[in-house]
Amino acid sequence: LVNDLLDVSKLEAGAMPVNYSRINLKTVVQDGLSMLEQWAESRGIKLESKLTETFEFDADEKLLQIVFTNLVGNAIKFSTSGGLIVISAEQSETEIKICVSDTGCVIPEISKKKIFEKFEQVKTISQDGVPKGTGLGLSIVKEIVELHKGKIWVQSKVGKGSKFIFTLPINADSN
Ligand code: ADP
Repeated sequence: LVNDLLDVSKLEAGAMPVNYSRINLKTVVQDGLSMLEQWAESRGIKLESKLTETFEFDADEKLLQIVFTNLVGNAIKFSTSGGLIVISAEQSETEIKICVSDTGCVIPEISKKKIFEKFEQVKTISQDGVPKGTGLGLSIVKEIVELHKGKIWVQSKVGKGSKFIFTLPINADSN
């Protein structure tokens, strides 16, 4: 929580420097997934990367890793045993699109914007008890994505779980 708060105050003050470097998404995804694998496994949830290539673009690797692990971490938290989390990406000439989809709880239509706000937690539809968090993760994720001049949104349907999608420009200097 302390780390979360520090990140948010820095991000909001515009005091978070973005240290751009050329990212290899496959490596970032592999590193992130290997950090979370044991936790997912202990909860009976499978993690699967569907990245077909390395996908290279400009971003702050540390901040990108925060975005990625928060999204996958949430997907694990809000899924039940037998769940599957899939990471996929596609690239156009100007932007990369990264998707984290899960088979967990549904996010009601009216909450899809709210969950990206600070301290916002939503009563998600699930069979068993949903673990409590701080309601900060997604606001940090959104700040970081927007710091990179990207966008983030969520799709969620009953029976299909949730899919978080974010886009980032390929080249930092084209902004
Ligand atoms: P926290 O996870 O600490 O509650 P977040 O800001 O990360 O805070 O998320 C806000 C809310 O969005 C969560 O409390 C939950 O209701 C919802 N949410 C986030 N990720 C998912 C997901 N993958 N599936 C279902 N609900 C989610």
